[in-house]
Amino acid sequence: MNVICDLCGKRPGRLTDRTVVNNGVVEFHFCEECYDKIRRSGMTALEVMSQAAARLGKECPVCGFTAEDFARTFSFGCPECYEHMRKVAMPAAAAAQGAGAKHIGKVPRRRKND
Ligand SMILES: [Zn+2]
Ligand SMILES: [Zn+2]
Repeated sequence: MNVICDLCGKRPGRLTDRTVVNNGVVEFHFCEECYDKIRRSGMTALEVMSQAAARLGKECPVCGFTAEDFARTFSFGCPECYEHMRKVAMPAAAAAQGAGAKHIGKVPRRRKND
């Protein structure tokens, strides 16, 4: 039973990286090549996965939820989704519900830190 690398999706993910996030531990599997790349990038595996996920249209690296999913369901796949999707999810939700409509469900309100 081979686990495939979470980053490239091609090579066997022999290395496991555990990142602690506020709701628990997120586990990624990487091949040697990608793991090396991540280490040299100076970013955490979660940050790298977040960027990779964004490129693939998956906004949340933890559960793979996208802004489109959010626009359809008005809920997030996991608590991390909010952190990763707030930039895109709110406009997507507004567009889906019509201008001015707000129905954000269980998502906690946060003030903008401008
Ligand atoms: Zn890889
Ligand atoms: Zn998520």
